[in-house]
Amino acid sequence: MSERKIVLEAAQKLYRLKLVAGTSGNISMRSLSQPDSRFFITASGMAYDTMGEEDIVEIDQAGAPLNPAQRPSSEWRMHLEIYRKYPQVNAIVHTHSPFATGFAVCQEKIPLILIEMKPFLGGDVPVAPFAPAGSQELADGLIPYLKDRNACLLANHGVVCCGKNMDDAFIVGEYVEDAAKIYYYAKTAGTPVILE
Ligand SMILES: [Zn+2]
Repeated sequence: MSERKIVLEAAQKLYRLKLVAGTSGNISMRSLSQPDSRFFITASGMAYDTMGEEDIVEIDQAGAPLNPAQRPSSEWRMHLEIYRKYPQVNAIVHTHSPFATGFAVCQEKIPLILIEMKPFLGGDVPVAPFAPAGSQELADGLIPYLKDRNACLLANHGVVCCGKNMDDAFIVGEYVEDAAKIYYYAKTAGTPVILE
């Protein structure tokens, strides 16, 4: 499958599963032929349900679109910074999923409460400090939080999920939201017991 098709299908699934609202969130992957210098990312401010393969933007290491008529997601900087610092990451899914983003707004991490969090997420889900969306400051600030983790929350913003391929990155996004939802219910029901 082409990179454009992989990114498009993941983006539309993200919208269908309500892990994003409106045109928020974005998805990217490394080029299969030029993994160190070319990336495919969803377009800026475009509706997911009418997005086509041709709307997925191929960018270089500086974030410049190969087709100058296209505009990549305004949050391309954090994607490139993650690819630069973590060579094992080949796909990134950025969600604004509601339960996880609720904890991001409280700037409260999601602790290790479920057994699948360890293998899929690397453990708990930490919170990277607030910085304006799309800024280099945000991109630089989240990097340490992805060390030994496949996901982190972005304070007052959303979730960044990484994987060795798109399927893995997507599952990370689903498990972060599931853990956030269960943690929320557990806190409502009583006192959650945190695993080691
Ligand atoms: Zn965002």
